[in-house]
Amino acid sequence: MGHRRCEPGQNPLRLVVEDFSFSRDRNTTGELEDLSVEQVIIVGAGPCGLAAAVELRKRGIDPLLIEKGCVVNSIYGYPINMVFFSTSERLEIGDVPFIVPGEKPSREEALSYYRTVAQRTGVRIHTYEEVETVEKGADRFRVWTVKRTGERKTYEARYIVVATGYFDNPNYLDVPGEELEKVTHYYREAHPYQGQKVAIIGGNNNAVEAALAIERAGGEVTWIYRRADYSPSIKAWVRPVFESIINRGVIKAMWTTEVKRIETDRLVLLQEGREVVIENDAVLALTGYRPNRRLLTSLGVQINEDSGEPVFNPETMETNVADMFIAGVIAAGNNANAIFIENGRDHGAVLAANIEERLKKLS
Ligand SMILES: Cc1cc2nc3c(=O)[nH]c(=O)nc-3n(C[C@H](O)[C@H](O)[C@H](O)COP(=O)(O)OP(=O)(O)OC[C@H]3O[C@@H](n4cnc5c(N)ncnc54)[C@H](O)[C@@H]3O)c2cc1C
Repeated sequence: MGHRRCEPGQNPLRLVVEDFSFSRDRNTTGELEDLSVEQVIIVGAGPCGLAAAVELRKRGIDPLLIEKGCVVNSIYGYPINMVFFSTSERLEIGDVPFIVPGEKPSREEALSYYRTVAQRTGVRIHTYEEVETVEKGADRFRVWTVKRTGERKTYEARYIVVATGYFDNPNYLDVPGEELEKVTHYYREAHPYQGQKVAIIGGNNNAVEAALAIERAGGEVTWIYRRADYSPSIKAWVRPVFESIINRGVIKAMWTTEVKRIETDRLVLLQEGREVVIENDAVLALTGYRPNRRLLTSLGVQINEDSGEPVFNPETMETNVADMFIAGVIAAGNNANAIFIENGRDHGAVLAANIEERLKKLS
């Protein structure tokens, strides 16, 4: 079957093509599904997906953002009283000023800022709608989603930008007992831990700040870290406070220690090969996050074995699958922290310029 011809002045991307050969072309009654046709679909409305949308709009392209939660859902899930390590101008997107009274913005200020960007720039966002599957046809993609109401939707798009981040995918300890209710990989606030014996696992800012806050709230904190020295990435203004608390024994530090097993009322640890058992009520395994590449690999995006990065061209942000782009943390390799808002926000302008060029050639 051939393509339908594009009339003068008509956007070629607004045509519903009939030559798809997707696995789910028709619904159970045999009818073609009710398709929405888009030029560009961006999966994920984190700061980097949002930045990509704004950059596309600046170039006269009106992408659809599909987000499984709220706008900047990951930041919404960060510790409630968190303060960013970045200054506000380094978190700005789309030339919208981010002005805060202090030096570094709080989570609350960042939420307000990105909400404002979403409203003022007029980007189209379908929130509370999860992209389940993407398939590639002859010259466009088909995208299947499910809304939180359970309603299912199908879209077509010539270009896909995957900006799904990493926060949904914690680095699991992979030890027995990790599934227990008392174990979490997300720290929100200290209040529930008063009077509890709390184990905090991990050496990054998230773990260190949770340990300090929970100790202040009256938790009995044991900090478990597999290395022998502090991580160099701890915020400069937090480290002296943390070191002092550790040195005074207010928080018990267990260096070069790993978790072997989690039980309902205790933890079995391995400290330099020696088994140590401690009493325990709650575990916060704050060992970082890594991108889930399912959407990419399901379409044939290759992962570089050495670096762990998806294969893509940094000059366009296009992956090895034609017309499929990436933005933000999803582009990171084994060190997921190498890309963050400060540098991931720039991916949008790069891919938007490239998509604009291609659309010009098509019209
Ligand atoms: C506690 C903490 C503090 C941080 N502080 C800083 C800082 O000070 N400065 C800095 O630059 N960086 C910081 N970072 C890192 C930064 O927040 C992330 O790098 C950034 O959020 C990445 O943006 P992103 O748009 O790539 O991904 P995300 O922000 O993770 O956004 C991805 C979005 O995709 C959505 N999504 C995922 N899968 C689907 C799907 N299938 N369908 C639809 N939607 C989907 C998610 O809900 C999410 O909203 C911090 C991170 C943490 C955890």
